[in-house]
Amino acid sequence: MTSSAPPMSSKVVLVTGASSGIGEATGRYLAAIGHTVVLGARRTDRIGLLAQEIREAGGKAFHWHLDVTDLESVRSFAASAYDQCGRIDVLINNAGVMPLSLMEDLRIDEWDRMIDVNLRGVLYGIAAVMPIMRKQGVGHIVNVASVSAHRVDPTAAVYSATKFAVRALSEGLRQESKDVRVTVVSPGFTRSELFDGIGVAPLKTAVRAMMDQASIPASAVAEAIGYAIGQPENVDVGEVIVRATAQG
Ligand code: NDP
Repeated sequence: MTSSAPPMSSKVVLVTGASSGIGEATGRYLAAIGHTVVLGARRTDRIGLLAQEIREAGGKAFHWHLDVTDLESVRSFAASAYDQCGRIDVLINNAGVMPLSLMEDLRIDEWDRMIDVNLRGVLYGIAAVMPIMRKQGVGHIVNVASVSAHRVDPTAAVYSATKFAVRALSEGLRQESKDVRVTVVSPGFTRSELFDGIGVAPLKTAVRAMMDQASIPASAVAEAIGYAIGQPENVDVGEVIVRATAQG
């Protein structure tokens, strides 16, 4: 496999939401630089193909069905990874949804889904791996937040609320943890399938136009995650914001 990245020790890295976009790019990149990746998502056909592609290129990859809104599913995902690999070095809580809308539209099902996936899903991930990382005496949790964890815009109030919450809980976890590293990676506009989930048609068109003006490939976020993971165990990269140079 070819990569311009420096060599680093091989880790067992779990990636949620690995079936598209940032999660898919992260699985591919981390495997290419020598890590064992464990891919989770609901679309198992996609992560199965990605795992196969990685193995055919000489890397190590496993995949299991994962629904981050279901605690038992998240626990089973982590347990399967631990049984297979004997350890869990890194969890990347990446799965997320972004059905933007004005609050006055009261799209309450979409609010609930954002809370369930973007916030509860991250907490479930932490709950599933924390006992294992504590037992190991070492571990790393990478939470994918957003520039929307740093600013609020119209139509993104609930999405931002979930991402602000992810930053808040990450900082609390970081302060409490002496042996588990915690990193928040906040992407700006990134080319992925995230925008397909916007249910308000004119809004979807407007966001796509903004994306076309200034966005980064998912691989740029993957490499930022790889940078944080690659630091020595006593160095915790707390926060990274990665976005297009031209994004306002
Ligand atoms: P994609 O829509 O391409 O990927 C989202 C991933 O989340 C998919 O793999 C999907 O898998 C997974 N997912 C959604 N719901 C669940 C669930 N219930 N259980 C398990 N997996 C789930 O979007 P991105 O790659 O862009 O998004 C990744 C992360 O990056 C998200 O947290 C997003 O908020 C964040 N982000 C993205 C930005 C962007 O501009 N793209 C900007 C800032 C942050 P499946 O449907 O197969 O389960």
